[in-house]
Amino acid sequence: MLTSPLFRRLFLPYFVLICCCVGVLGFSGARRLRATHLSDVERKLQDNSLLIARLLNDPHANRKVREQVRELGDALSCRITLIDPEGKVLADNEADVQQMENHRLRPEVMAALSSGQGISVRRSGTVRAELVYFARRIELAGSPAVLRLSVHLDALERDLADLYQALAITAAVAILVAGAICFYLARRHAIPFVAVTQFADSLSRGDLSHRIARRGDGELATLSTALNTMAESLADNLARSSAERAQLQAVLSAMSEGVIATDGEQRILLANAAAARLLNFDPTHATGHALWEVLRSDELIKAVEAALREKGRRSVKIGPIVGRHLEVVLSPFPTGAGMGLVIAAHDTTEAVRYEELREEFVANVSHELRTPIAMIKGFAETLRNGASSDPEKLQQYLATIEKHADLLTNLVTDLLDLAKLESQAVPSIRGHVDLQSVLQHVHEMYAPTAQQKGQTIELRVASNLPNFPGNPDYIERAIANLLDNAIKYSLDNTSITIAARRENAAIIIEVTDNGIGIPPEDLPRIFERFYRVDRSRSRAMGGTGLGLSIVKHVAQFHGGKVEATSAVGRGSTFALHLPIDPLTASSAG
Ligand code: ADP
Repeated sequence: MLTSPLFRRLFLPYFVLICCCVGVLGFSGARRLRATHLSDVERKLQDNSLLIARLLNDPHANRKVREQVRELGDALSCRITLIDPEGKVLADNEADVQQMENHRLRPEVMAALSSGQGISVRRSGTVRAELVYFARRIELAGSPAVLRLSVHLDALERDLADLYQALAITAAVAILVAGAICFYLARRHAIPFVAVTQFADSLSRGDLSHRIARRGDGELATLSTALNTMAESLADNLARSSAERAQLQAVLSAMSEGVIATDGEQRILLANAAAARLLNFDPTHATGHALWEVLRSDELIKAVEAALREKGRRSVKIGPIVGRHLEVVLSPFPTGAGMGLVIAAHDTTEAVRYEELREEFVANVSHELRTPIAMIKGFAETLRNGASSDPEKLQQYLATIEKHADLLTNLVTDLLDLAKLESQAVPSIRGHVDLQSVLQHVHEMYAPTAQQKGQTIELRVASNLPNFPGNPDYIERAIANLLDNAIKYSLDNTSITIAARRENAAIIIEVTDNGIGIPPEDLPRIFERFYRVDRSRSRAMGGTGLGLSIVKHVAQFHGGKVEATSAVGRGSTFALHLPIDPLTASSAG
């Protein structure tokens, strides 16, 4: 408070004014006191001179004049001097008249001789002290004389000093009391202003939690109420806008679409994390920067320029930007200064990839269908054109037609199975797999085919295998595909092993052959649809190129995976990993 400029401005001028007034009053009072005191002394000397003159002329007084002068001087505590008109001192109660010089030229004596009385204040050459002299012309025993009374100024000054001291103490007390009152009043008036100033200061620094106490009913109280209301509504607005901002941030950061908004000068107002990810910029250096500094795609920059030029919404497909295809919608909007822009970027990579895969799949399927259909059609035409007359050829052609019809059937069956597996986005496993009986059944199915090639199939199933949740038909189909491949891609008189065991929380089924093997460069791709190492050999065996793809999907359906290891000319091993509890297993492939 004491450091407040307002307090100092209120307190100091009044305090200085009071000090000046008291000083001036004290000074003039002291002067007046001195004058009054001197005139009192003068009056007293006048009165005493009249009395002494009468006593000196008392006919009954039988003492000498000098004795009378001494007695009267002692009684009245003053110096009495009698001087004849020539200036000769006749009597003096404080000095030896013989030693005294002529007093005719003393100012008070001259005045008394000329006008009856005179006064002067000066230093006495006789008694060597400051004195007040009063002289009166009197008749002494019928002759003129001058009676002079004088008092020492020292005594007078001592009296005055006492008076001055009392006056100074009074002035000091007055200054102290006035200063305290000034201090109290200045503080009282400054406190509300200081409170308002501090409040306004905290408002300007963004601290909206303070409120001012309302004082009295005057203008300051109205101002306090108005400022408090203003702070409350500011705090409300700020809280609302920060809540809205937080909501907007939450919505924007939860969006998978990238969103950028710019002002009329194309400076970025906001950009969400998805926009930074999709358009490949640093999210921490986006807000406040020019759009051109942030965007890296020339295609997009051209689209932005066109949208701003045409002032109309436009949608463009761009990419790939860092491997992503995007569909970007540009929506310009008018601002106070120029056109602002909202950019919404949608990642279409998956859709583009899906479309590519679909086209590739359709092309593959038509290609795969075309060969057997062409073969069937060709041999049917040959038969119709007369080849049927040769019974040997007829049998041969009919066998070829049947083989390609079988291939078509395999193809359609595999495609349908694959479609069924792929359509189950969320696998719903019902039922339990008794692996022992599934493996037994597959073995029985393929034993005759293997026998035809002189191959042996050995079944090694661990004894402690539990039943596990799964689809037995799918599992049987997968193992059958692996066994079918092992038979197809192995030479005659080789051996094939099917082993099943438990490893931690998974069942592992391995189909191992000593067949032709798979080259290392083909190994990573053999689970792709229609991928075949040797297309004509596969087709000659009735293969569709979909068998391993179905195995992979079956494994994924059960939350498991399939792995292949192989060496050309030595054989291959396909391992199917199936979790015992598919719900806790992560899918892999
Ligand atoms: P296909 O119907 O042609 O057998 P698959 O999807 O079952 O189709 O197999 C894909 C390809 O992987 C086969 O064409 C073959 O080249 C190769 N392949 C699969 N299993 C074996 C195996 N056990 N030994 C050697 N090559 C194999």
